[in-house]
Amino acid sequence: MKVHLIPALSDNYIFLIEMDSSYICVDPAVSKPVIDFCGNKPLSQILITHHHHDHIGGIQELKNKYNCEVYAPEYDKHRIENVDHWVKDNDQVQINNLSFNVSYTPGHTLGHIVYYCPEMSSLFCGDTLFRLGCGRLFEGSYEQMYNSLEIIKELPKDTKIYCAHEYTETNLKFCHHHNLVSDALKNEEANILNLRQNNQPTVPTTLDIELETSPFLNPQKHYPDLSPEEGFKTIRELRNKW
Ligand code: ZN
Ligand code: FE
Repeated sequence: MKVHLIPALSDNYIFLIEMDSSYICVDPAVSKPVIDFCGNKPLSQILITHHHHDHIGGIQELKNKYNCEVYAPEYDKHRIENVDHWVKDNDQVQINNLSFNVSYTPGHTLGHIVYYCPEMSSLFCGDTLFRLGCGRLFEGSYEQMYNSLEIIKELPKDTKIYCAHEYTETNLKFCHHHNLVSDALKNEEANILNLRQNNQPTVPTTLDIELETSPFLNPQKHYPDLSPEEGFKTIRELRNKW
């Protein structure tokens, strides 16, 4: 099973999971590059993580073209159109031999969900977790985002993390600016810079890399005197202002 990354807008990634006779699309920001990529193989399902336009903007045109089934968070019923299946925490979306376990991860928005596919050891996490970062708190509280990240931390360590934005280099600069660079991140840094210099995605990352390198998943490493929750809040506040 291959996951294709389609860059869109300024820094979004749209994901296309290639199955034998069709594709599943995660968070179609726009439709045209998806249609171009799919070619003669149709799109059969769309999975949505949250209601922001850069994650749902392509739904209508894709649905018109492929009549695909759309899954989206139940919380966002009033603000996402053209949805067939509303899903919530602990639901499982079964598509052929792939299952997508839904977890509710509020923080960035109040309806945000993520999809974990055990058969592919992959997490499609929208704007909840980024490489070396996490989503801005547009609707939820620090506590909600902290708890949402704790849920992701429970997944198997080899889980591939498909974040919906290429923010890694910016997040790396932020880590340097505020002395949040661990030894593990020092080791990873050249790899990240090299990928970006060659215009390559730094996504997917893996959970074990993020657990080692991301201050957002390891606040206690940088603020040992604070509780993990307070440490997370401190780092997120620094990132808000940066
Ligand atoms: Zn968003
Ligand atoms: Fe986004």
